[in-house]
Amino acid sequence: MISYLKTLASLAILVSASAWAQDPSGYPGNYAKAPRFKALVYHNEHVETAHQDFARQSLEFLHKLTYGEGWIMDVTTDFNRYTYNDLKDYNVIVMLNDAPSSPGAREAFQEYMENGGGWVGFHAAGYNDRNTNWAWLNQFLGCGQFLCNNWPPQPVLLEVDVEDHPVTKNLPKEFVSASSEWFMWQPSPRENPDVTVLLTLSPKNYPIGLKDVISWGDFPVVWTNNRYRMIYLNMGHGDEEYIDPTQNLLLINALRWVVSRDPAGDPFTK
Ligand code: ZN
Repeated sequence: MISYLKTLASLAILVSASAWAQDPSGYPGNYAKAPRFKALVYHNEHVETAHQDFARQSLEFLHKLTYGEGWIMDVTTDFNRYTYNDLKDYNVIVMLNDAPSSPGAREAFQEYMENGGGWVGFHAAGYNDRNTNWAWLNQFLGCGQFLCNNWPPQPVLLEVDVEDHPVTKNLPKEFVSASSEWFMWQPSPRENPDVTVLLTLSPKNYPIGLKDVISWGDFPVVWTNNRYRMIYLNMGHGDEEYIDPTQNLLLINALRWVVSRDPAGDPFTK
């Protein structure tokens, strides 16, 4: 009996000393009885091959995350056909390799985001230059236009800027990314007071590139504009983006974080 009590006491000490025991009462699991959220995933089939490759692998990756029907994933290659009314029931829109191009689709997407919509955008979905002619996109991203990129695509050392953010809290302070093409913007989103930069390409990478070489400058890689329920991730080039577990975890964190902030309520707590 005494040894049993001792075991109980030492267990209690162990549990109380553990960070995961903040709420030891009740059952720790919360199983979905119905899909928790609904996502629209958009990719363009008529973009450069490396961006199509990323979209194809992203769809495989995301599809695996739907196993068990925890959420609904609708996929489209024709964003232009969506009106605001079509979009407003989605908890999140994931743009894999392009942004809306037609005036109607841009307007619908803008209305969706201005009314609490969620967005996870990768790589070319945020690309813009002098020919994009969509000032709202820059305002939404919280940065200026594309300035330059390294070439060829390659892995880089990334640094976490905010360690206690839901998107980064379980990531190492520094890690080597999967291979990608990295974009620099001018002005940098870091200069925008509404933006929180979460991950940055480490200056230790400089000079980066074998053909197109970048030797200095600010390379934010993942950020959010706090005026919207959004996150932008620069990853999204080529067929090697899903080989790294740390980066895969980052992508899941990003999706989950955007969905969890739905103004209709956090679907993961229901
Ligand atoms: Zn690219």
